[in-house]
Amino acid sequence: MLRRIILYRASKNKNINMLDSFSFVNIGFAFLCIISCGCKKTESVTSSSSSTVPAVYSKIYGATSITSDGTYITIKSNHLPDYKSVYYPTTDSMYQSFSGITFNGYTFSKNPNKIELQTLTFKIPLNPQVATTHSATPLGPIGISLNGVPFYNQYAGSNLPLTNEAGGFDQYWGHPQQTGQYHYHVEPLYLTTVKATKSSLLGFLLDGFPVYGPEENGVTITNAMMDEYHGHTTATPEYPNGIYHYHITGTDPYINGSGFYGTPGTVSQ
Ligand SMILES: [Zn+2]
Ligand SMILES: [Zn+2]
Repeated sequence: MLRRIILYRASKNKNINMLDSFSFVNIGFAFLCIISCGCKKTESVTSSSSSTVPAVYSKIYGATSITSDGTYITIKSNHLPDYKSVYYPTTDSMYQSFSGITFNGYTFSKNPNKIELQTLTFKIPLNPQVATTHSATPLGPIGISLNGVPFYNQYAGSNLPLTNEAGGFDQYWGHPQQTGQYHYHVEPLYLTTVKATKSSLLGFLLDGFPVYGPEENGVTITNAMMDEYHGHTTATPEYPNGIYHYHITGTDPYINGSGFYGTPGTVSQ
């Protein structure tokens, strides 16, 4: 089957808010994507077919490729943060020292890990649907953010709270684990303050439902406003007909609550 492949150039459009405007026609669970041209293109199409990738996924500017087989969206990423971090090896030009206060007022305390290149392949449902049984999120990647860095859940391992890890988050609130995989357990500060805003779409969880920042319509989202999976259903700029979506909040559980709202896809690494 022919597939439409979107390859991203190394130097991407810096302003992710300037992506193509588009609208969705919701036919059952099928999204028909209509791209209105005239805006700056951020992708180059190398082949074409009937299984197009909806324009909303082009917001994941850190992906190395995004394809669709009509059922799943496959997103590949090298996961590396697109900013300087104290967790890059000191010999890397992306290394930058950091000290002082970080997430939640913790004094930064560097963990012993270093960022190492690795490839992640996320396969998420094109048409996300609520699950009859909600599966718990695993340790490791549970979703992908706009810059290709994975989201992790609210645990530091073996269901331990993040308390002892949070002081190790760098200036943009990410950190690498033992194998060098950099990730976010909490608000990805680089995305919410530099690349996008506190109310922007910030990525997708493995079940295909989108993740938004800690504000909506000028209001700061609290956990009490979210359901047990840490989301709700309203219209959003990207989904004017309404969609279930997660919000990242400033307190535990931050990104996801008691498991996936929908049926998760897979991630391989
Ligand atoms: Zn972690
Ligand atoms: Zn919302």
